[in-house]
Amino acid sequence: MEKLKNKVAVITGGNSGIGFGIAEAFKKEGATGAITGRNQATLDCSTEALSEAFIGIQGDVTNQHDLENIFRKTADKFGKIDVLVVNAGGVVDGIPMGSISDVTEEGYDRYMDLNLKSAYFTVQKSLPYLNDGASVILIGSSAAHRAAPGMAIYSAAKAAVISLAKGLSLDLLSRNIRVNTISPGSIDTPVFGKLVPEEHLEQVKQTWIDMIPVGRQGLPSDIGKAAVFLASDDSAFIVGTEILSDGGMTNLS
Ligand code: NDP
Repeated sequence: MEKLKNKVAVITGGNSGIGFGIAEAFKKEGATGAITGRNQATLDCSTEALSEAFIGIQGDVTNQHDLENIFRKTADKFGKIDVLVVNAGGVVDGIPMGSISDVTEEGYDRYMDLNLKSAYFTVQKSLPYLNDGASVILIGSSAAHRAAPGMAIYSAAKAAVISLAKGLSLDLLSRNIRVNTISPGSIDTPVFGKLVPEEHLEQVKQTWIDMIPVGRQGLPSDIGKAAVFLASDDSAFIVGTEILSDGGMTNLS
């Protein structure tokens, strides 16, 4: 039986990497809904992976009007929202993560806006449309637990996202809405191409693999499976917690 039959989901950043993997996994389990991203050209849902199940809605998650528009359009099309995956985030275009001496105030604010503030307001703007029994999944990061050079701001923002999920869980229990976090480890997505020059890509990925006890990078589908569990009624008693999906990197390496 399909675990997400009749459920409507919104997945921010569902046009790429982890978000797309989650959308594919949701479709396989019978969900419909919307994926979002800033670039309309990347929101084509007519491909086999998402066709007839998902629509693409353009929007910048750091823009409050765009967030309102995303949820209004989804509700207009599907009537209600059962699952929200707050996934958009990661690297800010044109602003590399860096060591403390290189980071400007603008860079700091842009990383916090994209990875923390947008998560808070994505949840807030979804509230008028979330169904009784809805599941909200925030995408954190193993970086919240395991330091890496030059990633202090990103790590701090993602640690705050995990805290946010706990706090919002309590606030939203009265509406019968569950909030949890999935924290991915190193997952093979286009983000590496944004961080590392092409000629060093394989070497950098191998460095990550060497730190992962299971001996491979994660795949977007690994995170998709965890998200199906948190979105489904199988996890009805799981509230305000974090699933660390990192191949053992944080706790075993
Ligand atoms: P990708 O770069 O493949 O995807 C990032 C997504 O976020 C894209 O869909 C992008 O869409 C969207 N996005 C970025 N900025 C904005 C914005 N301002 N408004 C709307 N959408 C935006 O990266 P991943 O799939 O790897 O990352 C997805 C999430 O997983 C992020 O939150 C990241 O921090 C987290 N993560 C990733 C890990 C990894 O190893 N890959 C590890 C741990 C956490 P577009 O550019 O079209 O707007």
